[in-house]
Order: sequence, then C-alpha cells, then structure tokens
Amino acid sequence: MPLMKPAAIHAFYARLRDALPEPKTELEYATPYQLLVAVVLSAQATDVGVNRATRSLVEKVKTPQQMIALGDAKLKDHVKSIGLFRNKAKNVMALSRLLIEHHGGEVPHDRAALEALPGVGRKTASVVLNVAFGEKTIAVDTHIFRVANRTGLAPGKTPLAVELGLEKRVPEPYVQHAHHWLILHGRYVCKARKPDCPSCVVRDLCRYKAKTTVG
Ligand code: SF4
Repeated sequence: MPLMKPAAIHAFYARLRDALPEPKTELEYATPYQLLVAVVLSAQATDVGVNRATRSLVEKVKTPQQMIALGDAKLKDHVKSIGLFRNKAKNVMALSRLLIEHHGGEVPHDRAALEALPGVGRKTASVVLNVAFGEKTIAVDTHIFRVANRTGLAPGKTPLAVELGLEKRVPEPYVQHAHHWLILHGRYVCKARKPDCPSCVVRDLCRYKAKTTVG
C-alpha cells in the first residue's frame, strides 16, 4: 500500500475534524478509574455492550475502594453479558487492589505504571492516557489498523508499526484527537467488510485500490 503524502495527510485529518470537531469516546464513564475499568472490560466487546453492562455499576462504583467493597461476585453479576467476563472481573479486582496499594487509589498518569496493572496492555494504557489525561497517544485497535493500512496514512504489518507510523506522521493540530477520528471513521464509514467509499469524505485522498462504488 503506497504511503499518503504529507499534504494529503493534513487534508485527511482536517476533513475528519470538520465533520466532528470534538470527538469523544463512546464508552460511558465519569472518573479516570471508571474509564480504566470500562476499557479493560471492552477488550473484544463492543462499547455499546460494555455501556449496557456498566451503567448500573457506574452509579455505585466510582473508586477502587468501592470496587473492593462491592466484591468479585457482584462485579461478575454486573458484567456477565460481556465476553470473557470472569477473567476481566478478576483483572478489575486485582488492578483495583494494586491502585489502592501503590497509587493511593488513583489511576497513574504513567504508561509503565498502567501497563503493570493486570489486564492492561499497551492499547488500554494508550486509551487511558489519551482520553483521561489528554496525552497525544494513538491506540491502534482493529479499526485504526485497517484504516491506516487501507488509506496509506501509516501502512504497517503490526499494530505497533502502525501506531509508530501514525504518531510520526500526524500533523500537530490533529494529534490529540486522531485516535477518536480514526476509530469512528473505521467503525462507521471505512468498515471491515464493505467500506462506504461513495459517501466517504476522504475518498479522493485515500490510496485504497478496491474502493466500493454506488450500487
Ligand atoms: S475511500 Fe473507502 S477505503 Fe478509503 S477511507 Fe474512505 S471508506 Fe475507507
């Protein structure tokens, strides 16, 4: 896949920004801790499914201390509609204990400390750093991986290669929100099976050879 040229990359992000100036995560949360829990629960699940399961939890549990007080059995009961819920609940309880023991019950603003938590990998840490702390990270999920490769924004064989390529090439004004624009573009327009190329705002900039047509 050919690499998109810098001027086209600039125009690409400018158009996504014009369509959605203030993009937000679709996960529902009120505190950084709730965001961290939601992201851990969302692995291989949809944001809609996670929101449905956590809505009643979010009202009761705002801190790791409240999660410990709730207990493993009740947490599982709340999240049992989410895939892999047993393992995810175990990780949420363990990371809550670690946050209390090592971070005064706060979510650390630090990649290494985040990635040391159970169930938290590079992608989850990147989402928390970007959404909760405004860091300029781009967490590469399946949607961003596809969009970056199809369009030529940052072709790469692995999520890490795509992440580094995107971060290197994204122009400064768009760094903060690039993650959300790309996820939403992949989720709703540049879809896996049949991208909606005819109504895509970056169609003329995209380098994908197999663009779909009307009909
Ligand atoms: S033109 Fe098609 S392939 Fe390219 S970004 Fe838009 S939807 Fe995706």
